[in-house]
Amino acid sequence: MDIFTHALLPVILVGAIAKRPDLRGRWQLVSIGIAGALPDILCPHLSLEARMASWSHGISCWFMLTIVMLMISYFSRRRIAAGFASLLSGAYFLHMMCDAISGGVNFFHPFGNGSWGDYWVDPIWWIPLDIACFLTVYFMFRVAPRMRALKQSGQTSLQGGLLESATDSNATGWDSNER
Ligand SMILES: [Zn+2]
Repeated sequence: MDIFTHALLPVILVGAIAKRPDLRGRWQLVSIGIAGALPDILCPHLSLEARMASWSHGISCWFMLTIVMLMISYFSRRRIAAGFASLLSGAYFLHMMCDAISGGVNFFHPFGNGSWGDYWVDPIWWIPLDIACFLTVYFMFRVAPRMRALKQSGQTSLQGGLLESATDSNATGWDSNER
């Protein structure tokens, strides 16, 4: 898969599953996207052979980065929560799994041959997947919140209108009683 899908897929998953607002902030989502794309940023490549030989797509690299992220979380006195560091680690691992189903990955690199995977997701689908991910992210974080806000403001104004008309009718009732 392309780097755009790798970056956006974990963002979509977090957007769909995580309800805590501290995980859905702009910088949190950007960090998750970068973590998802990181194996290709650390070791850019074009061919499958180059991917199989890249150190950034191995379990050892993922494991070491996870330890580093958890240590940063610990020494930053949890300003970066351990749960969030684990999410970044998960985004990185998701990249490896996505590469495994779209060609393959050598999980044991550089310590041995742990090649696994195949072109179950044909390269012909990679660009449509990028587009689908872009559209999903746009809908999820732009269109849907605006629709919710519009719906809420509509409900509020409707409630306000109902309240106002109720107050008006009460006032009229009071007036007519007075007369
Ligand atoms: Zn990759």
